[in-house]
Amino acid sequence: MNDCLFCKIIAGEIPGNKVYENDRVFAFRDINPQAPTHVLIVPKKHMANILECDAETAAALTDAVGVIARQEGVAESGFRLVSNCGPHGCQSVHHLHVHLLGGEQLTERMA
Ligand code: 5GP
Ligand code: ZN
Repeated sequence: MNDCLFCKIIAGEIPGNKVYENDRVFAFRDINPQAPTHVLIVPKKHMANILECDAETAAALTDAVGVIARQEGVAESGFRLVSNCGPHGCQSVHHLHVHLLGGEQLTERMA
């Protein structure tokens, strides 16, 4: 019954280019990368956006950011985290995700 794209990627029903996984978090490469490193970090538990995120999940996502940034080689050079929420935030997939963008000099403008 769950028609969520990211739940299907987490379940392996749709191929995803996995970069990291633990018991709470799954991370995979964005299909339309906006930077040399563009990883989507998502909770395994379905929640629509940051407004539905509990403290344990937030902590797990934060821990995963550090692991993935080091794994991707962008911890020192720097990176940007973005989590779009709702219509004005241009959220297109309604399963909470954090974009990790890096690998080049990003523009100062928020994007
Ligand atoms: P949003 O716009 O909701 O913040 O971000 C959704 C992201 O999911 C977009 O950057 C888009 O490129 C990515 N995306 C959409 N469909 C797929 C897919 O099937 N596989 C992967 N890996 N990424 C996807
Ligand atoms: Zn989902």
